[in-house]
Amino acid sequence: MRKKVIAGNWKMNKDLTESQNLISKIVSELGNEKLNCEVIICPPFTSLSEAAGLIKGSAVKLGAQNMHFEENGAFTGEISAAMLKSVGCEFVIAGHSERRALFGETDQLVNKKIKKILSSGLKPIFCVGETLEERESGVMKDVIKRQVTEGLKDITANQLANIILAYEPVWAIGTGKTATPGQAEEVHAFIRGLIEENYSSDAAENLTIQYGGSVKPDNAADLLSQQDIDGALVGGACLKSDSFIGIIKSA
Ligand code: PEP
Repeated sequence: MRKKVIAGNWKMNKDLTESQNLISKIVSELGNEKLNCEVIICPPFTSLSEAAGLIKGSAVKLGAQNMHFEENGAFTGEISAAMLKSVGCEFVIAGHSERRALFGETDQLVNKKIKKILSSGLKPIFCVGETLEERESGVMKDVIKRQVTEGLKDITANQLANIILAYEPVWAIGTGKTATPGQAEEVHAFIRGLIEENYSSDAAENLTIQYGGSVKPDNAADLLSQQDIDGALVGGACLKSDSFIGIIKSA
């Protein structure tokens, strides 16, 4: 049985004080709950160190939203794996559609990041997803296949066990348009099939595949009840404790 994983991608939101308030609320509201799922928060870099202190002793784990693939050096504005580890991160998002679309990240770059995240002892949350145009023109599965295959190039089955994959249709991110449970399940099952082809049925069976794209407390249960949907990567709804906790409770 795969455990559900609910992760919150805060994006470029919340200064330090706002982060402290949100994390304190999440931790205190989850405090007495018996959780059936894993919970990860990915605040901005500036709040990671503080976040690590606030989640200590709770069930909440810490992730970063981005990372550079080099060890260190002249990469102005970038953050390394060692830096993220030093502040208590366990997870790093890679291949988010906003990084791909707004910052020109290619499948090859995403693959380099995933390799570095893994070799540093961190765990990638590896995002894939098609645009509306790609879905409507019938190339959705080709796009997903390319992103999955290129992103996981040279990744071993052992390494795959430390990866969370997130299917995030670009047209559903931040738009309020959620994929129907059926639409999401179709792609999740397709991705699991790709993993079976490229690795093994065990690897496919054990892989956690989250859905992301306008997940809210009122649609989470239906999505999470699908056979191949193992959790949610949440954007907008993770910025308020009520809605993030509501999604966690659905899991
Ligand atoms: C995301 O950016 O990963 C995301 C899923 O955002 P939202 O939930 O706001 O659609």
